[in-house]
Parts: sequence; structure tokens; C-alpha cells
Amino acid sequence: MSSAASFRRTKIIFTIGPATESEEMLEKLIRAGADIVRLNMAHAKHDWTRMIIRRIRAVSARVEREVAIMMDIKGPEIRTGDVTAPIELKVGEIFDFTVRPGMSAERGGGAEEIRSVDVNYQDLVNDIKVGDTVLVDNGLLRLEVLEKDAARIRCRVLIPGELKSRRHINLPGVKVNLPSFTEKDRGDSIVGLEEGIDFLALSFVRAAKDIELLRTFLSEKKSKVKIIAKIEDQSAIENLNEIVHACDALMVARGDLGIECPFEELPVIQRRAVRACLAQGRPVIVATHMLESMISQPVPTRAEITDVANAVFELADCVMLSGETTIGKYPLECVHMLDTIARRIELEADDTWEEPAVFTGERMKVLHSAVVLANELPNSKLVTFTRHGFMAQGLALLRPSHSPILAITPSLQVFRQLRLLRSVDPVLMTLASDPNDTIENAIAMLQRSGRINPGDKIVVATDILAQDRLVDSVQLRTVR
Ligand code: PEP
Repeated sequence: MSSAASFRRTKIIFTIGPATESEEMLEKLIRAGADIVRLNMAHAKHDWTRMIIRRIRAVSARVEREVAIMMDIKGPEIRTGDVTAPIELKVGEIFDFTVRPGMSAERGGGAEEIRSVDVNYQDLVNDIKVGDTVLVDNGLLRLEVLEKDAARIRCRVLIPGELKSRRHINLPGVKVNLPSFTEKDRGDSIVGLEEGIDFLALSFVRAAKDIELLRTFLSEKKSKVKIIAKIEDQSAIENLNEIVHACDALMVARGDLGIECPFEELPVIQRRAVRACLAQGRPVIVATHMLESMISQPVPTRAEITDVANAVFELADCVMLSGETTIGKYPLECVHMLDTIARRIELEADDTWEEPAVFTGERMKVLHSAVVLANELPNSKLVTFTRHGFMAQGLALLRPSHSPILAITPSLQVFRQLRLLRSVDPVLMTLASDPNDTIENAIAMLQRSGRINPGDKIVVATDILAQDRLVDSVQLRTVR
């Protein structure tokens, strides 16, 4: 078996929750190599959000390893209302979802009555058709729509179970007429921007215009936060290419996708989505249930190991943990597990990259030549200087076969955002006014930090001054 690579190219995102919010655990996870912390706003209050962002920043500063923060806003969501006690739904039972607030309570719940629950979405009766499926609580309960009127939809229970308060509803294949960026999302985002988050992940993106709406909001706020589009339903799959084009990065949100789409489609969708991102040059995250059994067990199933490996083989930028690190018993072991699997698989995954034809700009061609050179030199390292992150992203999109991309930036926000990109090892450094001085300073700094050593070949992709003009260049240097 080959030895592990010294640098992990696939990035690790973990979702913070009760199991990981302590300073002590955060420190362990950051030291273990987590790259991005995700806050799931479906479960977060604003006071907690502010407190936890400050805590993540403080712990990062203390351990001198700055991680990025992703705020995941929940987007359009349909939920059931409150029930006084859990309702035990029986198979074949006729059950109503009512759209006038309080209607279920008014109707009471007598034994001869058809039982019901309110939902928080009035237009449900217009969007849904007879014969459609209603899934409740992550698909645990399944009902079929039998009839509807202006006030309710009447269903038959197909898969029985217990219905508790405020459960999430999925309507596979139904085009829901809810705003993509809700008032709650706006309020959450403002808190995130005030606290200096790096990424906003928008849930249930259905079309490019959903992203444009969020982009307009961000530019009104003069924010440089990057937008991650979460694809979670059938509309997103129909509009995949335009969504990939419009976003800054894509998340294959397999939790909801696996409910909204036929289960056998999920691996096909994942592969198609990752390839669409590689083809259009967008970073991509594979998310959810990667190590689900580790919520309660210290080791993953063999199938989970293979699932993580598959994402690395597909050349995804990031893998993501959710329940494993919010409520799981083994959050640190999960990060170690992803780290170990990714390092091993990366040794095998190098040659599978086929460059898509869309990278036609001149700058991409210069970056391409840098990557070709690095690929041909064993143990070489790519070095780039990047004020806005574009040069580093360009190199990362070309998926160098073995070289890390040492991306030197003077901006802390760019530094953190570079944490998302496969193969990129960001380095914070002030750039000198003379590009050549910058290169010399960087080489000295990279040596001090142990990233490069005497005798190493470095391929430098940067702009240089040539007769008072900046030109893109590729340089091959040997570290002295
Ligand atoms: C998912 O559905 O896979 C996901 C990441 O979204 P959430 O955790 O917000 O449901």
C-alpha cells in the first residue's frame, strides 16, 4: 500500500452543534484539519450565532489556523404546525393538511373526525395535485393526496408513523411557489454579514434567478461573501447547468435530494452535478450522511468508507459532515476518518481528470501551462499570488495531479474563502510593491513554515512587471 500524502487536497466541512460547540472540541477539530465550519440556521438563534462565530474566530486565532465559516440559510421550507401530543398515523388512515392557521385546532380531534394538522404554507392547495406524494419528517411518513379544496388537502397514509410538532414536509416533483430567499433568511444573513462570515449557502435553490436575488442582496450590503447553491430537489436538477453557472460553489445536499428524487437517481445526480461543476469551473461539495453511522458508533460502515472515497475519486472539492458533528458521539473521530480516507484515495485519484473545453481565456491558458509543468515534475509545488482568489481558483479548477497550490494572499477573507478549494493551501502575506520582491519574500516565508524545502521545484504562476506593464508569467524555480 502507498504511503499517505503529506497534504490533503480534499477539504473538510463540519456542521457545528451541541456536540462540537465547546471551545475545547472546536480546538480539537480545527487542529485535526477541519477547513470550514457550517452553521445550520434551521436550528440556530441569533444570539447563539453571534456567540459561536466569535468563538470560532477566537479559537482559530489561538491555534493559528484560520478556518472559514459557512452560514447555511434554510430557504423555502414547508412545515407542519404544533400538535398538542404526537399523532400516531395508521396505514390507510385518511388525514388532512389544513392551510388556514388554527383550523386543525378548531376542528378538534374527535374519534369519528378525520384528523388533521396545519401547515405553514397557504398555497399548498394550489401547488399540489391529486395523486402527488406528501413526505413528512425526512420521508419517515408518506401520504398520497386523494382530494383537495381551498382549505385543505385530504390524504391517505401509505407509510405510517408518529407525527410530531413542526415537522419538515417534502413534496417530490411539486413546483412550490415559495420565495427562494425568505424574511428569515434575510434576518439570518444580516447577522452573518455583521459577524463576518465567508460563505452563504442557500437551501432549495431551484433556478439561477434564486442566486441572482441573493447576489443583489449581497451587493446592496457591499459584501464579498461567496454564494453556495444547495441543490436539493427536482427543479434544481432540471436547471443544473444554469445554477452551476450562477453560483460561486455548489453543494450536493443529498439529505433532501434523497427524499425529493427517486433514491436510485441519487448517485447519478451526484456524479452529474460534480461533473457539471468541473466542466464549468465551480467548486463542489458532497454533503450529508457520509459517516452517518458514526453518530452512534466509533467506526464507519464499509459502505460509508466507499462513499467518502467515491467523492474523492470524483474530484470533489469538499466533503461535509452534518449530524455526525452536531449531535454525534464521535465528532473528532469523524474528522480523522475523512482525513485518512481522503489522503489515501488522493494517491489513486490523480489521473482521472479530463480538462473541459470551456477554459478558453488567455489567463486560464497560462495557468494551464503552469499545471502541465507541475504535473510533469515529481514533488513540485505550485505557488501563486492572489488578491481576489482568482489565480488560485483557476489553478484549483485544473486539478493538478500531485502539487499543492500554495496560494499567497494579502486578504484574510480571501484566505478563508480559499479553504473551500481542492488542493489549495492558503498563506496570508502582505505583497510588496515590486512583484519580484514579493516572490522572494514568499519563498523565504514558505521555507520558514516548512511548506517548501531546499531542492524543491516550484512552479510560480504570477503577474510580473515587464517594461512597466503587468504580464502573466509561469516560472520554474529551484528552492535554494
Ligand atoms: C441536505 O439536505 O443534505 C442538507 C445539507 O441540507 P440540510 O442539512 O439543511 O437539510
